[in-house]
Amino acid sequence: MIPTHVHLDHAGGSGELMRQCPEAQLIVHPKGAPHLIDPARLTVGATEVYGPEAFARDFGTLVPVPAERVLVAEDGHRIDLAGRALTFVDTPGHANHHGCIWDERSRGFFTGDTFGISYRELDTAAGPFLFAPTTPVAFDPDAWLQSLDKLMAFGPRSMYLTHYCRVEAPERLVDDLRHSIRALADLALEVDAGQGNDRADRLRAAVGRQLVADAVAHGCSLGEARIRSLLEVDIELNAQGLEVWLKRRARRAAS
Ligand SMILES: [Zn+2]
Repeated sequence: MIPTHVHLDHAGGSGELMRQCPEAQLIVHPKGAPHLIDPARLTVGATEVYGPEAFARDFGTLVPVPAERVLVAEDGHRIDLAGRALTFVDTPGHANHHGCIWDERSRGFFTGDTFGISYRELDTAAGPFLFAPTTPVAFDPDAWLQSLDKLMAFGPRSMYLTHYCRVEAPERLVDDLRHSIRALADLALEVDAGQGNDRADRLRAAVGRQLVADAVAHGCSLGEARIRSLLEVDIELNAQGLEVWLKRRARRAAS
C-alpha cells in the first residue's frame, strides 16, 4: 500500500490494513515513515486537530506498522506493480510528508491532497470546483506551487483525487488551485495584520467567506448556506492550518 501522506484521513488505517494483508509492503515518504511505525505523535497531533471525541469516533486506536515492512520512497522512486510502472514524486506544500504517485500507463497522478479537494456537489458548467486544503501543521504555499509545476511537467491526462474522484484535463484546473493556495495565504496575512486578539475566530470567518465566494464565482448555484455546510469541516481545518502557518512564520521571523 502507498499512502500519499500520513494525515489520518489518508493513512490512519495503515497499520490495521497491513495486519489484514500480511504479504503487503507499505511504501511511504521518508518524513512519514517514522510516524506510521510509531503513531504516538500522530495520535497526539490529530487529537488536537479533531478533538478527543471525533478522534476516537473516526480513527479509534492507531496500529503501528512493523518497521521491516516499510519501504521509504525518495523522490523518483520507481515501483513495479505486477508489471505496471508507478513513480513516487515528492510534493511538499499541503504537507511536508506528501508524495504523489504517477501511473505512466493511464498518464494519471494519485494526488492525495496535493491537487486540492473537489466535491461533485459543487461541479458546474465550468467544470469541477477545486480548492486548497491548508490543513495543519505544515502548509507551505511556495513549496506547494512548485509541487504543482512538478506534477504538470509530466503532462498528466487525469488526476485521481482522494477527495474526490478523477478529474480530467488538469491543465485547465491547475490555475484555480494556484489561485486558492495564494488567496488563502494572502488572507491569513491580512487577518494577521488586522486588529484584535481573536485571530483564530477572524481567520475562520474569513476562510469561510473566501471559500464560499470562490464556489459562487465558479458558478455554484446551491446557495450560500448549502455551500457553507458542505465545506464546514474544510473551513475549520483550513483556518486551523493557516493559524499554525502564521505562528511558524512569526517564530521564524523572531529567530
Ligand atoms: Zn492531508
